Amino acid sequence: MKTAAEYVESLRARKLVLWVDGQRVPDPTRHPKVRPSIDTVAATYALAHDPDPTIRDLATPHSKLVDARVNRFTHLFTSDDDLRKKLELQRILGRLTGTCFQRCVGMDGLNATYIATHGRQGHDRFVRWLANVQREDLTLNGAMTDPKGDRSKRPSEQPDSFVRVVGRSAVGLVIRGAKIHQTGAANAHEILVMPGQSLRAGEEDFAIACAIPVDAPGVSMVLGRQPSDERRGGPDAGNARYGGQECVVIFEDVFVPRDRVFIDGDLEACNELLEAFAGFHRASYGGCKPGNLDALVGATALLAKKNGVRDASHVRDKLTQMVHLTETIHALGLAASTKTTKHRSGIHQVDAVLANVCKHHVTELPYEIVRLAEDLAGGLLATMPSVADLDHPELGPKLRHVMGDRERAKLLRLVEWMSYGSGAVPLRIECMHGAGSPQAQRVVIERRTDWDEKMRAARKLAGLDE
Ligand SMILES: Cc1cc2nc3c(=O)[nH]c(=O)nc-3n(C[C@H](O)[C@H](O)[C@H](O)COP(=O)(O)OP(=O)(O)OC[C@H]3O[C@@H](n4cnc5c(N)ncnc54)[C@H](O)[C@@H]3O)c2cc1C
Repeated sequence: MKTAAEYVESLRARKLVLWVDGQRVPDPTRHPKVRPSIDTVAATYALAHDPDPTIRDLATPHSKLVDARVNRFTHLFTSDDDLRKKLELQRILGRLTGTCFQRCVGMDGLNATYIATHGRQGHDRFVRWLANVQREDLTLNGAMTDPKGDRSKRPSEQPDSFVRVVGRSAVGLVIRGAKIHQTGAANAHEILVMPGQSLRAGEEDFAIACAIPVDAPGVSMVLGRQPSDERRGGPDAGNARYGGQECVVIFEDVFVPRDRVFIDGDLEACNELLEAFAGFHRASYGGCKPGNLDALVGATALLAKKNGVRDASHVRDKLTQMVHLTETIHALGLAASTKTTKHRSGIHQVDAVLANVCKHHVTELPYEIVRLAEDLAGGLLATMPSVADLDHPELGPKLRHVMGDRERAKLLRLVEWMSYGSGAVPLRIECMHGAGSPQAQRVVIERRTDWDEKMRAARKLAGLDE
């Protein structure tokens, strides 16, 4: 398995076409806006070599596929233990980095693709590709979301807004289009292209799952802006070490050899992939987000201490409420990963209703937790001068009684970063839309609920059938 340093080095070997602020970036590992997000992914590699054997065990399960220990982010969920350990690892990484560590869409996507291809053409090709991913310890960009254009129109009415097949031959496919909001795409080795929505007859050209190296001819990426991203690496960065990343990934007539095509035109397989992915990924939010929120709760508690209000009863109550809401999300993720079923392919699947309830809470509770953090941090959160001003030999002493000590100033910057700086992208907007906007979860909760069972219970209790 790669070390963190080997992972970073492996990124330099790619011929990636990456654009940042209108300029081509020859080496992303040296770009100040990209590097913090690379360091975040590197943390997932570092844990595989952690000196603590308990953490190493969480990070490196044994893969039957290659008969070796692999990084958990390339692993198949072959037991309930795998599903729960995934969440425990996500929480540790979320707390360690305070942000999105970018490998979960790929992990959940490869498990969904395994399920969807099982018993169908393309499964053997997928398994061969996955074995290589595990052996080479690769990072995947899980690429589902299409730009979609007018949401009231079908893909066939506006093909340019979707990734689709524009050429087929015995040797492979040619695909065109773009995927948006792609987490960690510029930090990956491979793109796992998957369908972005359920598809109907006549939409076979949009029904594809395939793998493409990030530097394949015709692939280019454009880095998404994040609030306060100009501050990265500077005194006001907020998160001193880590960052997140989303990209637009453009496919301009990219050739995909047949051995990298896993689903081609099979609508049923696509729908199965989408449903399996939604379950896995909506439960994943019960791991990473509680980890991020741990860091926010910690920063808020430290600030309350510095402000001399940590022991006030309403402050203790608000901090306790922040923990209560955080653990509610984690408990739902764990519950979904405990009440499981085994798919005929051997992959263990989460409980669909609980996973959707988990993600649905994630669209609401972090906003309340951030509100409480903003309450306890005080107004300086939004009005504080730069930490550089505090560090200035002439100005610093004049500001000491305004900003407090350097620790207080840096904690305020961290809370600011997570509340409405770059860290709010994974902590708020991703909580809202990642793995589907709130309505997507309500649809599944309604569809998967056994309404008859509830009504039967009510009839019995009310004595309606006696
Ligand atoms: C930070 C972040 C990271 C992400 N990472 C990834 C990633 O790594 N890979 C990936 O593939 N995707 C990723 N996503 C994408 C995510 O899955 C989508 O944002 C999500 O599916 C919502 O799609 P959308 O953003 O196009 O919003 P929309 O679908 O446009 O939703 C906006 C609103 O419109 C409503 N709406 C949408 N369509 C309809 C309709 N037909 N009728 C009525 N109402 C409608 C929704 O309910 C919602 O309220 C990420 C998103 C974010 C924000």
